Amino acid sequence: MSIAENVARVRAQMAQAALRWGRDPSEIKLCAATKMNDAQAVRQAIAAGVDCCGENRVQELTAKLSENAYAGVPVHFIGHLQTNKVKQVVGKVDLIQSVDSEHLLRAIDREAGKQGIRQDILLEINIGNEASKGGFRPEEILPLLENFGEFSNVCVKGLMAIPPISRFPGENLEFFQKMRQISVDIRDIFNDNVKVDCLSMGMSGDFEDAIAAGSTMIRVGTAIFGARDYRKTSSK
Ligand SMILES: *Cc1c(COP(=O)(O)O)cnc(C)c1O
Repeated sequence: MSIAENVARVRAQMAQAALRWGRDPSEIKLCAATKMNDAQAVRQAIAAGVDCCGENRVQELTAKLSENAYAGVPVHFIGHLQTNKVKQVVGKVDLIQSVDSEHLLRAIDREAGKQGIRQDILLEINIGNEASKGGFRPEEILPLLENFGEFSNVCVKGLMAIPPISRFPGENLEFFQKMRQISVDIRDIFNDNVKVDCLSMGMSGDFEDAIAAGSTMIRVGTAIFGARDYRKTSSK
């Protein structure tokens, strides 16, 4: 199947899931997770109508930006970002989805301040409480946002989560529902740099459950581009 056919199929599945749960399909964005796919594949996905692209690795982001691969749609950073690389990402992407520690948040805020911009971000939550993953603990989010004034060079647009890989339908539903609850708990915080309305969750294997629970943005790689060939690259 071509990338265009894959995007059309994912769109149809998204719409079906949305309607099943009484949601408006237009309120759910499709972010193409483009890691390990080249500029040509990225352009095909954009031509097929994805809403934005999400890149995982700084090196790939920089290379594809220089090729103008993301022309026409916003580009997001969705991978783990080391603080020594924030300079290469802040101001280069429309949204950093994967702010997974206060240390990183501080570094992004400082860099955005230096550049004289305000960087849009999501806070990543380690919803499955996995030792292998970064991210805030759910109970850290409310106190952080209530005292967010010091981070005046970023704007929090919402929350993001990467739950454990699901092996069967419904397995991650409880994690998605927990995310939804956290987003409801913080909905009423009104602050100049906190405007929470994005809930980024759901990947190829579980986006229908994420939509059922209230996702407003799914990040899809495999279902659009096919399986990634990890032999082709060793860079991380
Ligand atoms: C790779 C990736 C995805 C997409 O995963 P698929 O299972 O291929 O759809 C989504 N989010 C993040 C953060 C990723 O790294």
